[in-house]
Amino acid sequence: MEDPISRKGEFKMSMDAPPEKGEGMFDIADFMEGNRRWVEENEEWFKLHGHKKQEPKCLWIGCSDARVPANQVIGQPVGAVFVHRNIANLVVSADMNIKSVIQYAVSVLKVPHIIVCGHYDCGGVKAAMAKTPLDSNALGSPIEDWLHNIRDVSRLHSDELEAITDPDLKHRRLVELNVIEQCLNIFKLGVVQRRRLMTSQVAGAWAQPRVHGLVYCTETGRLINLAHDFRAERKKLGKHYELFQ
Ligand SMILES: [Zn+2]
Repeated sequence: MEDPISRKGEFKMSMDAPPEKGEGMFDIADFMEGNRRWVEENEEWFKLHGHKKQEPKCLWIGCSDARVPANQVIGQPVGAVFVHRNIANLVVSADMNIKSVIQYAVSVLKVPHIIVCGHYDCGGVKAAMAKTPLDSNALGSPIEDWLHNIRDVSRLHSDELEAITDPDLKHRRLVELNVIEQCLNIFKLGVVQRRRLMTSQVAGAWAQPRVHGLVYCTETGRLINLAHDFRAERKKLGKHYELFQ
């Protein structure tokens, strides 16, 4: 009979054998060292806040793109931002993941703000504007289905987008329109509608959560506040999506 301990040991040894490290490559030791440095730099924060519950100022819904890290982009410390990221920052009603995040953020954490942040040079948005080669492995893949949601945004705004001839400007506008549509998708959710109705009943208070559409420029690091007026659109949406009397 094989000794499970020695088998485990063999397995461990093979798992631990480091691959050859080429120039510019990281391995887990680099990440652990990065963590050690980060803990040292933030020692004071852990003393003051490490044992407390989270009380984030906002829910951030952003793209998974590595160039758009939520906290850094808005200059917020650890604990300030509740984060959900996916390809092209989509709010999809059939996505249990994002709906769970929004439910928890709104009804338990009671975040006063939800930010949807898209970004220019977004690979997801570009892919949704492109045709796929017939022999591509992407055909029929989950990402194709996911990007259908952006193709829907493109169809909704086809008149405006078709009038833009410059491909880069067209991409940028679709990024912006996609952010606006995802903000509208947030207003369609029952958990958001309920909390907004309840908070607006307090005299002089804003309905919460407030929803903001932002776009990040990966070339400059600047955020653009689309400052879209959702009030009029919410009235139009209300006919179809309002869930409460
Ligand atoms: Zn992206």
